[in-house]
Amino acid sequence: MLAGHVWVYRSDIVSSNGVPPGALVRVLDDRGKFLGSALYSSSSQIALRLLSRELVDDFPALLRKRIREAIAYRKQVVHGTDAYRVVFSEGDFLPGLIVDCYNDLISMQILTQAMDSEAARRAIMAELNEQFKPSAIAERVDPRVRELEQLAARTSNLIQGDKSSTIFSMNGIRFHYEAHEGQKTGAFLDQRENYAAATQYARGEALDVFCYQGGFALHLAQRCSSVTGVDSSRPALEMAEKNAALNGREIEWIEANAFELLRDYAHAGRQYDCIVLDPPAFAKSRRNLETALRGYKELNLRALKMLRPGGVLVTCSCSYHVSRTEFLAIVASAARDVHRNIRLLENRTQAKDHPILLPIPETAYLKCVAATVSY
Ligand code: SAH
Repeated sequence: MLAGHVWVYRSDIVSSNGVPPGALVRVLDDRGKFLGSALYSSSSQIALRLLSRELVDDFPALLRKRIREAIAYRKQVVHGTDAYRVVFSEGDFLPGLIVDCYNDLISMQILTQAMDSEAARRAIMAELNEQFKPSAIAERVDPRVRELEQLAARTSNLIQGDKSSTIFSMNGIRFHYEAHEGQKTGAFLDQRENYAAATQYARGEALDVFCYQGGFALHLAQRCSSVTGVDSSRPALEMAEKNAALNGREIEWIEANAFELLRDYAHAGRQYDCIVLDPPAFAKSRRNLETALRGYKELNLRALKMLRPGGVLVTCSCSYHVSRTEFLAIVASAARDVHRNIRLLENRTQAKDHPILLPIPETAYLKCVAATVSY
């Protein structure tokens, strides 16, 4: 924590006698010197999450102030969209709280004991209502996290209002939002700036692999002669088709395992001018890092093989455990293996409404690399 990090692991705690779950505590070093105020979890490996280097006595008031500050920061960095992440946990000094805005709907997620307290929930709801006057607020529950934090089970639900769907827009493209569908908290807002970047380079025939509800595909369709989106999830593709219709675009959606499809297409000699790879986090922990790296290698290898000379690869990894250096090395070695030259266009990360705190490397998770290939 002294090094600027904001977590203290359970193994580093000398004494936490009698501290109730989710309590606001003062953290002292082993000589009794005050280090800061933190939120305590009785069950997580991360026992303390630093809230402030100063003494905090009114947590709900601080919560409301931090939410207002998070909103002010978005006003600076978010443009051309009515869908963005309003609060990103540690990235906004609000550990355990995630809030997204989709036009007139708000979606929130609570991930720690402290944020789950009645007082905290009341403060969060009051501030969100005051700032956004939303039609409805939905809570998205991560059952696994609630279990780990030893919190009572809840189901994802509207917790205020009764409107559960809306239409939002980003970069001039419109999307359906359903509070009860989709993964994570709805759309992949962290890719918003990368969609715009990819659009700049897109042309010809495009393939969006792991397309989900069509985020990249719909952007590419603005410039490409044809776009195909691939995903293994039928509900995601159904939503993708609704999104295409909403924007008057024709896109081909294929329900398939991306690994199999890429292998078959590469063997069949199919060619594209632009390929996007945006797989789910293969490395959920360091333990399956090797398998994850092999997965990235295979995908990138096949995609590079299918790109025409001058073609553009947009390749992503959202696994925090795969470093940027490792990821770039994989893409480079895939290019070597298929005898392609590869030139970096852009080395990008998550959109700025998903803040990266420099002292906390865990907050930087998304890699999005655009590159062109030649033979
Ligand atoms: N590019 C998307 C986000 C992709 S999220 C966007 O910008 O919105 C990852 C997607 O990969 C999910 O939609 C999931 O359904 C899909 N997926 C996971 N494993 C897959 C596999 N083996 N083959 C195809 N799709 C897969």
